[in-house]
Amino acid sequence: MTEIPVTEILVTEVFSAIQGEGAHVGRRQVFVRLSGCNIRCSYCDQPEALELRAGPCRIEQTPGRRDWSNASSPLPVEAVARAVDRLWRAVPHHSVSVTGGEPLAQSGRLADLLALLPGKRIHLETNATLVAGLRRVIDLVDEVSMDIKLASVDGAGVDPETHRRFLELAATRDVAVKIVLGPGTSTEELSAAVGMVEETAPGSPVFLQPVTPFGSVSAAPTPEQVLEWHDRALALHPDVRVVPQTHKLIGQL
Ligand code: SF4
Repeated sequence: MTEIPVTEILVTEVFSAIQGEGAHVGRRQVFVRLSGCNIRCSYCDQPEALELRAGPCRIEQTPGRRDWSNASSPLPVEAVARAVDRLWRAVPHHSVSVTGGEPLAQSGRLADLLALLPGKRIHLETNATLVAGLRRVIDLVDEVSMDIKLASVDGAGVDPETHRRFLELAATRDVAVKIVLGPGTSTEELSAAVGMVEETAPGSPVFLQPVTPFGSVSAAPTPEQVLEWHDRALALHPDVRVVPQTHKLIGQL
């Protein structure tokens, strides 16, 4: 008899929490945090999820209780889907947030996982650098929350043209754009990013997120800086909102 290969996926954690960023602030989601990221941002608050390698992972048993069951990653996609389903059924959730790390670093495996989650709204959180990966999963995703990385803030050096091509494809779904602002944000770079959204996906909201100090980042922008950047961005695109990382204020993961 031919053995059917099992798809395994590198996962860091599965849990239920309140979304703290962007368009769905305050909504309850099941989070699937996948392992591995293709870039390194100075403010990254998920250092344990950056490496694309096997290791320990944890699965919440009851939504919001943090009653973790420890396991070893990679896990079969069926096991991850069962973990999502258990949390989803116990409390009403708005959607499943697939996050990381960078979830598109495992786009083929992610497609296999998403195929096991029919009927659940899928929200993809991504650094918007892996266009081919997005193409692989786009039909299985309902909405995309994508970053535009500014070199003056994160130091990751992402080519703006990559973000543009990513947004073009993401705009075939509901898409929201997040831009992290630091004290050294270049106004020109921010204006170019917001102008690109207006040109490529004019109906999409842009969320400006003042950086939460973490790791090597020790300061947030001042209120005056944020107001100035908001003014500039609104002159280029009508739907620009400033939303900090609210989940940190209420002690969510
Ligand atoms: S893209 Fe996200 S996960 Fe990757 S380094 Fe930047 S902040 Fe961290």
